[in-house]
Amino acid sequence: MATFNIFVLPGDGVGPEVTGASQRVLDTVASRWEHDIVYSSDLVGGSAIDEYGEPLRAETLEKAKTSDAVLFGSVGGPKWDNAPVRPEAAILGLRKGMGLFGNIRPVKVFPGMESSSPVKDERVRGTDMIILRELTGGLYFSKPKRRWTTSRGRRGVDTLLYTEQEIARIVRMGFELARGRRKKLTSVDKANVMETGRLWHAIADEISKEYPDVELSHALADSCAMQIITNPRQFDVLVMENMFGDILSDEAAVLTASLGMLPSASLAALPQTGGGRRRKVRGLYEPIHGTAPDIAGQGKANPIGSILSMSFMLRYSLGLAKEADAVDAAVEGVLADGLRTADIAAAGQKVASTDEMTDAVIERVSKG
Ligand code: NAD
Repeated sequence: MATFNIFVLPGDGVGPEVTGASQRVLDTVASRWEHDIVYSSDLVGGSAIDEYGEPLRAETLEKAKTSDAVLFGSVGGPKWDNAPVRPEAAILGLRKGMGLFGNIRPVKVFPGMESSSPVKDERVRGTDMIILRELTGGLYFSKPKRRWTTSRGRRGVDTLLYTEQEIARIVRMGFELARGRRKKLTSVDKANVMETGRLWHAIADEISKEYPDVELSHALADSCAMQIITNPRQFDVLVMENMFGDILSDEAAVLTASLGMLPSASLAALPQTGGGRRRKVRGLYEPIHGTAPDIAGQGKANPIGSILSMSFMLRYSLGLAKEADAVDAAVEGVLADGLRTADIAAAGQKVASTDEMTDAVIERVSKG
């Protein structure tokens, strides 16, 4: 029986509700395929500020680095908006501290879900893309980053800096992902106005020579934002800077009807296949949504983004591909059955709670 050490960091708001749902599905996977899952858990974000005075303790980061995988909820909320250190520092610290530079965000419109999207059915039908977001550099991390007061008023600065190595490793990850899919990579930048964009563009061209089987195209971030809504089927894998990825993936979530649907995996490398063995990689798995303070504690949160993140964890960090396939198929099955949480229900449609949606996924996983 294989044993896996999973570190659960539920966080704030709906975080504990959706990670709780994922743990219940994971327990079902463990009992069906006889895996031994050992959980440990800690507070992060606002709840850690309340308890320990800081959003991410050093020992929490250390534990994250030594577990097989981290299952993360979400952090933040209005209660801590004026806290001296923001709860969101926890997730930024984990990503940076664990060296997780690649954030994989699949955007898939499941069959039967087309009419739940605010975008027309015929546009969203068949959408299946991955947004690969650079996660540890760029505008969110580069220095200088500060606010100060001068005699002529307040000022603020953020910096966008990328090294050749940082760009090359994320672009390579994009090519690798595309190679395993429809072999199309779109590199997104603002090369028309930004030096980092011109560097990004040039490095993507250079690396494309290592991947002659993958078709590389370039898109400017602003027109790409429009194309994601008007013609999403054209995209396979898109790779981009940290903030572009943050914004464009939330925009792309609209295609799937709700932020609550989208999972993510944050990795320092992709697992390698070779000699019939798939190497496992450490990662952090979280839905792309935030703490949804408007619905927290009401049993309304859509657990699918978190459950699909847990499925990524099975695939990438635990090396359990067939178990991950079973979870993905179960989610697809319950959606095809017409089960809908409030965020994805059409007007007048029966609404399932977080628990009801989770129970339906569990039933399918346990039956296979
Ligand atoms: P949000 O994603 O929390 O919510 C945006 C909208 O989507 C809300 O209407 C919410 O109800 C809905 N929504 C989100 N998740 C849902 C789910 N699972 N099911 C159903 N509906 C869902 O974004 P926000 O309101 O901008 O941010 C709230 C807090 O979360 C802020 O403090 C923000 O900083 C934080 N945040 C944290 C992370 C993270 O920890 N990785 C990511 C994004 C936002």
